[in-house]
Amino acid sequence: VPVVRAQSSPEYIPDAKFYKVEAILRSWRVSQVSSALLKIGIRGVTVSDVRGFGAQGGSTERQGGSEFSEDKFVAKVKMEIVVSKDQVEAVIEKIIEEARTGEIGDGKIFLVPVSDVIRVRTGERGEKAERMTGGRSDMTSAAWVV
Ligand code: ATP
Ligand code: GLN
Repeated sequence: VPVVRAQSSPEYIPDAKFYKVEAILRSWRVSQVSSALLKIGIRGVTVSDVRGFGAQGGSTERQGGSEFSEDKFVAKVKMEIVVSKDQVEAVIEKIIEEARTGEIGDGKIFLVPVSDVIRVRTGERGEKAERMTGGRSDMTSAAWVV
């Protein structure tokens, strides 16, 4: 019973002002994901080339497949996106919409609470540092005025 509750409700997520959405995705879907994120005002994104294994790596019949490297680690791209709490669900939804094929290997998303954001140039912290000019907050407040 506790397992079912944890899966069906987001209430167990540690509360924070900011969260990092960490998505491990198919490399060839990443540009599609990032342009879709840009359209909804997400301007801060970090990507890295990573290798790993999950369900896809464990399925031996795919050993000859195009995404299966010789050392059994599959090449993926990791996208890290730090956003304010109220933006988390929109970002997750958009990633799934753009990255999903329905086949094994679509990837996974991890949601990580972030304690603070610090802008190196100015030393600003918290909301001031996380906000980006022309970003999602600006877009939504402009829409609210109109
Ligand atoms: P500024 O001083 O105006 O903040 P900057 O060059 O110091 O400019 P950014 O260009 O905003 O900082 O960001 C630097 C790098 O940090 C980006 O290239 C990106 O990799 C990463 N980054 C910035 N914001 C985010 C974010 N919200 N989530 C994930 N990565 C981010
Ligand atoms: N939360 C920021 C804003 O609304 C955007 C964060 C991001 O682009 N990753 O300005």
